[in-house]
Amino acid sequence: MNYKDLADLMFPDAKEISYYEEKYPERNLKEGAIVTRIAPSPTGFIHIGGLYQGLIAKKVANQTEGVFFIRIEDTDQKREVENGVIGIIQALNDFGFEPDEGMTSETEEKGKYGPYKQSLRKEIYQAYAKYLISQGKAYPCFCSPEEIEEIRTKQESAKIRPGYYGVWAKCRKLTVEEMMEKIKAGEKWIVRFKSPGREDRKIKHKDIIKGNVEFPENDQDIVIIKADGLPTYHFAHAVDDHLMRTTHVIRGDEWLSSVPLHLQLFQELGFKAPKYAHIAPIMKNEDGNKRKLSKRKDPEAAVSYYEEEGIPKEAVTEYLLNIANSTFENWRRANPDKKIEEFELQLNKMSVSGALFDMVKLLDVSKITISKMTAEEVYKNTIKWAEKHNEKLSSLLKNNKEYSLKVLGIERGNKKPRKDIGKWSDVEENISYMYEELFEKDKSEYPYQVIKDKDAISKILNTYISKYYNENDDKQTWFDKIKELSGEMGYAKEVKEFKENPGKYVAHVGDVSTVLRVALTKRTNTPDMYEIMQILGKDTIERRFKKAISEMEK
Ligand code: GLU
Repeated sequence: MNYKDLADLMFPDAKEISYYEEKYPERNLKEGAIVTRIAPSPTGFIHIGGLYQGLIAKKVANQTEGVFFIRIEDTDQKREVENGVIGIIQALNDFGFEPDEGMTSETEEKGKYGPYKQSLRKEIYQAYAKYLISQGKAYPCFCSPEEIEEIRTKQESAKIRPGYYGVWAKCRKLTVEEMMEKIKAGEKWIVRFKSPGREDRKIKHKDIIKGNVEFPENDQDIVIIKADGLPTYHFAHAVDDHLMRTTHVIRGDEWLSSVPLHLQLFQELGFKAPKYAHIAPIMKNEDGNKRKLSKRKDPEAAVSYYEEEGIPKEAVTEYLLNIANSTFENWRRANPDKKIEEFELQLNKMSVSGALFDMVKLLDVSKITISKMTAEEVYKNTIKWAEKHNEKLSSLLKNNKEYSLKVLGIERGNKKPRKDIGKWSDVEENISYMYEELFEKDKSEYPYQVIKDKDAISKILNTYISKYYNENDDKQTWFDKIKELSGEMGYAKEVKEFKENPGKYVAHVGDVSTVLRVALTKRTNTPDMYEIMQILGKDTIERRFKKAISEMEK
């Protein structure tokens, strides 16, 4: 009786591994092309960190004319949720990180290296497990969960390293005959890897992101095939990334400490190991302390949050690149109009300890992104968002298309475009005063500033509309007239003059403008008032001034 007989008894139907080696040949790519993947487990929640990994993996593959694929890791069937796969695929597609290969829906896939869903690869894993058994590099383990628990309790009370290794690896010591007898007698088994490692020896490894790391060798006889016949993550990783010809495994750094085990698996299976790049989690600053962005505490940890808030995906992508490589910011400054595809991402420049995610900065990036859009684009994007999240806004925009395009076009398309919109959910607040129906409903106070006196305000408004305002004035004339009005009312016509003569004036032209602005919009801060007046038109301006005056009488 030898290992081969044992392997045949355990997996009588499994194919020779040469079958798979031929079926999934080396990829025919140009020198230096990188093959990456994203390997999510369908747990329902899509974390921004997952999207971040997808972006990195996609970018690195694209830059080198390589391949980026998606593999669904659904071997832990307890954790699985219904339709968990589609959400991930959708998120990647929405953000423009569409994989070249892999699952395209819950059941469909594209590419020649599939199946790309682990639960459909059972026979492949079994073939490789059989191969290891036939080589004496893996063995059946008959320990019941209770026995494993007992080992653990003993180890705990003796304060020694937990696990199935060395003297604790009971089944490792059985003879082939004993193993075969037990199997024939119908005893339940799983498959364990026979680790060749020793805990007192060290391995050195160079991670692309983390740099040189040193670990004790792995000596655990880990489970490779579970009782349900499916592989564990570790075994599936080795088999799949080998057969799918992954060159660079880019994954979360919670797996860094598994590298000694993974290298051993690759070694024993006779595979060339991939390069590893372990990404630190995205961090958040809370009261001066850095902590992981948490699914439980931070709404922005969910990819769905960005769609709900209406933060454009271009902005999210741009920001993620910003935190991925510190060189991005300079690149962007030097190349304000280049597409992000042109930025060369470097894995070895990624943060070792975790990039900091800052919502305020993301919104700043987003404001710039939106400022570069045309009025038409802003109009369309806002409607697209509002159709799902703010029906009133979407009908308002649709019912007033021409007018809305003018409103959204204020200070847009010029050298210094307006940067007040960071997300589509800001739009209503930003433009509401331009619509009579919304302005009517605004019950807030008029926030007058320096000039607060009722009579002074009425006088400014009345004089301006009756004597100075003319719809046909160009911007310069319009502004000169506000200066004239200021002079007539006894305010300084220039700010400089005001500053040079303290005590002579109670206010200046800027304060007069503020009165006009507040009466028109109930705001102290708006985009260009000349454009606002042009769009509102003389009748509306007059009506608003009257309303402002009458509100003061109350
Ligand atoms: N399914 C694993 C996870 O979600 C993938 C890790 C990897 O990329 O290898 O953590």
